[in-house]
Amino acid sequence: MNNHDWSRRDLAVLWHPCTQMKDHETLPPIPIKRGQGVWLEDFDGNRYLDAISSWWVNLFGHGHPYINAALKDQLESLEHVILAGFTHEPAVRLAERLTRLAPNGLSRCFYADNGSSAVEIALKMSFHFWQNAGKPEKTRFITLSNSYHGETLGALAVGDVALYKKTYEPLLLKPITIESPDCYHREPGETWADHSRRKFAEMERVLETHARETCAVIVEPLVQCAGGMRMYDPVYLKLLRAACDRYGVHLIADEIAVGFGRTGTFFACEQADIRPDFMCLSKGLTGGYLPLSCVLTTEAVYAAFYDEYTKLKAFLHSHSYTGNALACRAALATLDLFEKEDTLEANKRLAQAMAESTAALEDHPHVAEIRQTGMILAIELVKNKADREPYRWQERRGLRVYRHALSRGVLLRPLGNVVYFMPPYVITPGEIRFMADVAGEAIDIATKD
Ligand SMILES: *Cc1c(COP(=O)(O)O)cnc(C)c1O
Repeated sequence: MNNHDWSRRDLAVLWHPCTQMKDHETLPPIPIKRGQGVWLEDFDGNRYLDAISSWWVNLFGHGHPYINAALKDQLESLEHVILAGFTHEPAVRLAERLTRLAPNGLSRCFYADNGSSAVEIALKMSFHFWQNAGKPEKTRFITLSNSYHGETLGALAVGDVALYKKTYEPLLLKPITIESPDCYHREPGETWADHSRRKFAEMERVLETHARETCAVIVEPLVQCAGGMRMYDPVYLKLLRAACDRYGVHLIADEIAVGFGRTGTFFACEQADIRPDFMCLSKGLTGGYLPLSCVLTTEAVYAAFYDEYTKLKAFLHSHSYTGNALACRAALATLDLFEKEDTLEANKRLAQAMAESTAALEDHPHVAEIRQTGMILAIELVKNKADREPYRWQERRGLRVYRHALSRGVLLRPLGNVVYFMPPYVITPGEIRFMADVAGEAIDIATKD
């Protein structure tokens, strides 16, 4: 069986995520046979450097021997058990470790099995907290423009990427959406911090007007990933935390994409030295091995649900695979690796290497900006550098980058006109240079004519 055989069988029965399936008439899905470190290998023996960590989930490479061994060991005792009325060692140990690693005061861990579900849980918990606290008028959420929180209806409603949301608008909750502090739009000469601080004025105004009916503000700390890796300064989060306290509104930090070292600190919120009321985690949580998510919250939130059963205050939410034992064990092994290998320190050098290897692209006639936060680096392509006129989305310049990079053995998956690197932390400086060289070539080809 080679690539052709598997992709033919695939296209006869599968429907792929986030895909116009007709695109596969010209570019069939690539069947992957094995993964090792940053490399994926297909059935024809081609190799691809996984520069996007398989949709941002992988941290320590594919097929990591330590995580593999932990999972094999876990299989010998318990694969899964219902988490209502029962518990198990990996679920307990993982909750202990996450609550210790998280900002002080996030002392309760509620498990689910994917990122969108974690967002749904945070939204429901916040709303329900206020119900239990005698504030039934609190029914709304505040979100930032260009934000992304997942694809299920509640999570989609508090996101703002039109490509995913617009079609379903009639089905969705109506949040209050205010302009994001996205520093791509800062004035010439303005610092990220000044821009982010200036953008906070609207948040302050909206909170002042709408706090009474608002449950929570939801944000992606520091980087709006699906929205094109748009970034802002930690000062925005600091101001937001203080304002949420002043106006009696919860703060939900969606760290699903930015948690686990992506931004340079273990959690992005650390850079603002804040503690959200809810922190959503998934993606890198299991090192990219198995679906798992959790919502961390405070003892105050937990206490608002704790009462006699007949008061009907309990949080009666569940997913079948909540706190799956194998997934929790993969997460524990992943956390071990952070400790064993001093990953955050090592990542500083890798982040520096990513910056250096792309520096020459700053002068490219179709690159408007190269921006970076830790282990995320993004290159914004534009039609016209002088006034930053974007390429029309119909031109699909990013798809040209994708195709060329694949032909050279790198998996890049641009978001519209934004080419980005979000590699596993086991990438080497040499592999970073290769990834950047191929991205440079691909950008040349994609922006010709
Ligand atoms: C990916 C993502 C989600 C959704 O997670 P899924 O596991 O894909 O449902 C939510 N929020 C952010 C910030 C994400 O990047």
